[in-house]
Amino acid sequence: MLPELEQLLVIQDRDQKILTLNSDLERLPHEEENAKLRLIGDLKAKEAIEQQIKENEISIKSLELDIETRRDTIAKLKVQQFETRKNDEYQAINHEIERYQKDILGLEDNEIELMEKGESLMESLRKAEDSLQKTQDIVDKEIQIINDRRSHCKKQLDETSEDRKSLASSIDPDLLNEFERIFKSKKGDAIAELVNGVCTGCHMKVTPATAAAVRASKIIAHCDQCGRMLYS
Ligand SMILES: [Zn+2]
Repeated sequence: MLPELEQLLVIQDRDQKILTLNSDLERLPHEEENAKLRLIGDLKAKEAIEQQIKENEISIKSLELDIETRRDTIAKLKVQQFETRKNDEYQAINHEIERYQKDILGLEDNEIELMEKGESLMESLRKAEDSLQKTQDIVDKEIQIINDRRSHCKKQLDETSEDRKSLASSIDPDLLNEFERIFKSKKGDAIAELVNGVCTGCHMKVTPATAAAVRASKIIAHCDQCGRMLYS
């Protein structure tokens, strides 16, 4: 093989490595975003329970107010009852007081139910917080791994770029330009092996003259179809 081609093959290897590292680096923010998205479900579940707890507490407060209002009314009725001289009025007030007392008992039952509901909501909240914490731990670890990969990729990218720079400095600039132009247009390779007269870059057969030139290894021969530099 021509020594220039051998050198270019090494450069091609570094350039391919650089492409891979760059595309890895571009993917990382997306992966980080995806990791964080895993938290959303848990966060929403926790917020929904917190909202239910808030609403339950409001219902309890409102019941307590209702009970207090009835107690006040009963106290006022008792004063009226104490002051009345008429028996039928006394009985009527007694009847009313009993009705309010019955109301209070019903409201107190409701309050107990809501308090029990509150306890079970608190239990659900603790579970939701646990689950959120577990997901948070997993996400933190994933992000740590992503950050480690990012520093690893950057380090490798620096090293490979440095290496590529020193390899490129010993190549004829025109030849290097040509290599870079083909590498760019083929999106990742500029040199292909010729196997049984077929270019492994585009899988097409080259002309016998090209095949002969590749075998002779005196000049850099190009594939007739795709223009890649050929070696055998
Ligand atoms: Zn080809």
